[in-house]
Amino acid sequence: MPMLRQIAQLGHPVLRTDAERVILPASDATRALVADMLDTMRDAHGVGIAAPQVYDSSAIFIVASRPNPRYPNAPEMDPQVVINPEIIERSDEIVKGWEGCLSIPGLRGFVPRPRRIVVRYQDLEGEVFEREFEDFVARVFQHEDDHLHGLVFIDRLESPKDLVCEKEYQRQFAS
Ligand SMILES: [Zn+2]
Repeated sequence: MPMLRQIAQLGHPVLRTDAERVILPASDATRALVADMLDTMRDAHGVGIAAPQVYDSSAIFIVASRPNPRYPNAPEMDPQVVINPEIIERSDEIVKGWEGCLSIPGLRGFVPRPRRIVVRYQDLEGEVFEREFEDFVARVFQHEDDHLHGLVFIDRLESPKDLVCEKEYQRQFAS
């Protein structure tokens, strides 16, 4: 049975550590980790979660864009389990968009990122996928990929002035 895991909060070293490549096909422990990550993400109304956020330095994250209380305008997609990802192409076009993070509660940042990316990753069986993502999904993918490199969205801000409290984000910017 999947169980909810604790979410590491900013300041914990696991969020500043490079994740390790996962050996595939996945072990039972890795499959259990992924099931727990899905439950933990849904419970917290996240649209993505990375293994380091549940104290596991494995190169795994989930992208699960869907409308939810924190992102009412997010597109609907089946949760994608992303293992050993690489971003192999980034658009020159950079766009800014609002991001939050389960590991940084109460804050939102207006973060610049490439609008479109081409990525390669594996699933639990080791099958390799090459996909192109744009806009919100590309943003979530890049946010989660940063977690595998010890980075958080605050590191990507152009200015600390692009950081706001959740209450003001909801009052001014949430639509
Ligand atoms: Zn995050």
